[in-house]
Amino acid sequence: MENFVNELLPFNCFCIFDYIHSKQEKMSFELPKLPYAYDALEPHIDARTMEIHHSKHHNGYTTNLNNAIAGTDLEGKSIEDILNACTDMPAVRNNGGGYWNHSLFWSIMSPNGGGTPSGDLGSAIDSAFGSFSNFKDEFTKAAGTRFGSGWAWLCVVDGKLEVCSTANQDNPKMNIGCAGTPILGLDVWEHAYYLNYQNRRPDYINAFFNVINWEQVATNFSDAK
Ligand code: MN
Repeated sequence: MENFVNELLPFNCFCIFDYIHSKQEKMSFELPKLPYAYDALEPHIDARTMEIHHSKHHNGYTTNLNNAIAGTDLEGKSIEDILNACTDMPAVRNNGGGYWNHSLFWSIMSPNGGGTPSGDLGSAIDSAFGSFSNFKDEFTKAAGTRFGSGWAWLCVVDGKLEVCSTANQDNPKMNIGCAGTPILGLDVWEHAYYLNYQNRRPDYINAFFNVINWEQVATNFSDAK
């Protein structure tokens, strides 16, 4: 405490605020705002689940990520760099993944979502999977067969599309056997669906297809190619 006060003494009041701000600036991960209301995805995803999922779970990952990197070499790094370097640091791996995965998840859903993608993304899905219907089957299988908690992903790998799944809050960017850049992800932790769907994960997966924001996924695709 004494050192801290001594450090501040030569500064005028505005400099003190700058100094304190610079100390806080490195802990920069913030909970992203939801781009729609908690009840906007009903009846497919209920408001109570969305509120707890965003304001408690995602908020917790964000806070715990900031705490886990504070004072380490990872402080101040981008989330992509952190995901690349965190596999032997469980707290960073779990919370960094949780932070990134949910940030993607909210953005690829919309109350105006659903349907099928067109344009470059639609063509890429047809060429990788044969048809949109085949893609939906493969993604549904990846999400449905993930034992316990995890995620299903649609990733760009060397310019092509692939489906895979990861456990817990892992992410393909961690180089853990499921490669590429995720452009679409589905949270299959029970906290994502249990209030409304209980043990009926397949119903939740099916409902998710009614809220997918394909416009955002197409943007993610062109950014990742
Ligand atoms: Mn979640």
